[in-house]
Amino acid sequence: MRLWMPQRVYFEPSALDYPMGKQIYNYCKEKEIPILQTTSHNQVRGIPGETEKARYANARKTLVVGVKKAMKLDVCKPSAHYQFSLMTNCPGNCEYCYLFTTQGKKPYVRVYVNLEEIFQSIEKHIENRLPQTTLFEAASTGDPLAVEHITGALKKTIEYFGSLEKGRLRIVTKFSNVESLLNANHQGHTRFRFSINTNYVISQFEHNTEELFNRLQAAEKVARAGYPLGFIIAPIMRHENWKDEYAHMIQALDHYKVFHGKSHITFELIQHRFTRNAKKIIQERYPNTKLNMNEEERIRKFGKYGRVKYVYPKDEALEMKEYLSYLIRSHFPNAHIQYFT
Ligand code: SF4
Repeated sequence: MRLWMPQRVYFEPSALDYPMGKQIYNYCKEKEIPILQTTSHNQVRGIPGETEKARYANARKTLVVGVKKAMKLDVCKPSAHYQFSLMTNCPGNCEYCYLFTTQGKKPYVRVYVNLEEIFQSIEKHIENRLPQTTLFEAASTGDPLAVEHITGALKKTIEYFGSLEKGRLRIVTKFSNVESLLNANHQGHTRFRFSINTNYVISQFEHNTEELFNRLQAAEKVARAGYPLGFIIAPIMRHENWKDEYAHMIQALDHYKVFHGKSHITFELIQHRFTRNAKKIIQERYPNTKLNMNEEERIRKFGKYGRVKYVYPKDEALEMKEYLSYLIRSHFPNAHIQYFT
């Protein structure tokens, strides 16, 4: 897959005060990407397009380079203690993506250049939990590997965590451009997870992301470079032939000897869920979507801030959990299944 290249880049004025801001500016100049100024990501003007749909599509091809202001980190259960953002939104285009509900009509890919300030905030959150080790998730608001060729921020973040005694990083991706990260001084402090799914789910719903084979090849490289490795199977769906397709997916992993190595790989299992708001937005964006969002076939679960999510009924969810766990254990007896949610 070709690396994502924005068609226009907006800089917030203070972004150019930071080394990463200047580096991205030079990168865009060299690639002859039109460079524009904006006072803030809320004030971006001039996205081309006659209709709302065309403007939305063009906004997705727009990069906004800015400074992260909010430094208080959100909790991130169940995968980590806190999450932080190197970016917001994503060049990927997954029909079920949770970001649809937060990005509104402005799905620009935003990257943040004030890494040192982000690191200071991480340090404070680590101090508050001493002497325990604190886990941080870096891919909750987008897929940072998808823009790594432009920012280089993930490598710097991995090396920063490599220098920390009590902080650990977790990242997850659907992309495969890992080459620049293979020689990073990670010290085993970053768990690199690949989001995987059946061929049906990837081909139907995960547009502009890597195919499964390329994700697994990237996972092999990362494991050989000594990173702790994991897989997130999400969103798990009960589509036609789902049992056979998930079995094929786990068999595909089994071909890679390095996944059977000494260090335990982890699996995180997340069933498909949706909110009413997300359903409405997804149906507007993808009128022909094949995503099953039939509320009658689901049960309600209360999430953060009392938000209602629709998940599979208990007996179906249990069947999914047990079946996936059985597949994993029969191929990877030493793997650690961290949770099913
Ligand atoms: S790759 Fe992840 S963050 Fe990007 S669109 Fe897909 S689900 Fe959303």
